[in-house]
Amino acid sequence: MVIAEQGSSETHLQPTADTAASRPLVEMTNVTKVFSNGTVALSDMTMTVMPGEFISLLGPSGCGKSTALRIIAGLGGISAGSIDWPSFRINSRGLPDGDISFVFQEPTLMPWQTVFGNVYLPMRLKGISRKAASERIMSALESVGLADFHKAYPRELSGGMKMRVSIARALVTEPKLLLMDEPFAALDEITRQKLNDDVLALWKSTGITVVFVTHSVFESAYLANRIVVMKARPGRVDSDFPLHTSLERDSHYRTSEEYRQACSEVSARLSEAMGGEEHA
Ligand code: ADP
Repeated sequence: MVIAEQGSSETHLQPTADTAASRPLVEMTNVTKVFSNGTVALSDMTMTVMPGEFISLLGPSGCGKSTALRIIAGLGGISAGSIDWPSFRINSRGLPDGDISFVFQEPTLMPWQTVFGNVYLPMRLKGISRKAASERIMSALESVGLADFHKAYPRELSGGMKMRVSIARALVTEPKLLLMDEPFAALDEITRQKLNDDVLALWKSTGITVVFVTHSVFESAYLANRIVVMKARPGRVDSDFPLHTSLERDSHYRTSEEYRQACSEVSARLSEAMGGEEHA
């Protein structure tokens, strides 16, 4: 657990449930983050991540989504409040020890390494030999449909394929929690939709928990089973609600009345969070 020097006490944050399945993965309680230049990126943010959820963190640019995601990953300090990872091994610095993976908007691949070599990186950092890691690497590549491209170099791949490599690299260590920061924002619409379907398929087949940052209502309503809408200045949670659908989330869902209604409801929540401003 990481607790800011000021702010809430540790005791009320201990997990109350006694089974691993019902213990939260992450508990952020009244977290405030002030950068050294005085920017209040987050104010009093409280949010819990339960196992198996697909949460979309939705809000306009600058409302603190990336900051919140970095804090969930244990990558950023907090100024007040507390953050706890009840289901993770905690290291000597009070941070989760592995088991959390991050996918950024840029695939950030090493151009001098093959696809295989890029996906190997997190295993290499764990001290696992290439040979011992091979099966896991090929399985991760298989799960994103790129097993046949393991010998290719990033320059030979399309934008969508590079992003798939980045996802395989995030999955290769079999993390419990996958954090995705606007991973498909730079891709064309068709590729983005395809990758949305791929991520949903991975979520279903692996049972991994996902927190997915986006500013797209359509992406949020398609992917998430819970949406956390944030508002800006300072960044905080405006609403937090489940999004259930009776339909499979696939190409039929995209054109269904149910999806249209979900988009309309999510859009209304976002407009409310933005104080009535228009949102594309
Ligand atoms: P979002 O992901 O919703 O676009 P961010 O979390 O990136 O928002 O940023 C929230 C606020 O914090 C913004 O005002 C941004 O300019 C500011 N900010 C982000 N990172 C830093 C930093 N390293 N130093 C100072 N201000 C920052």
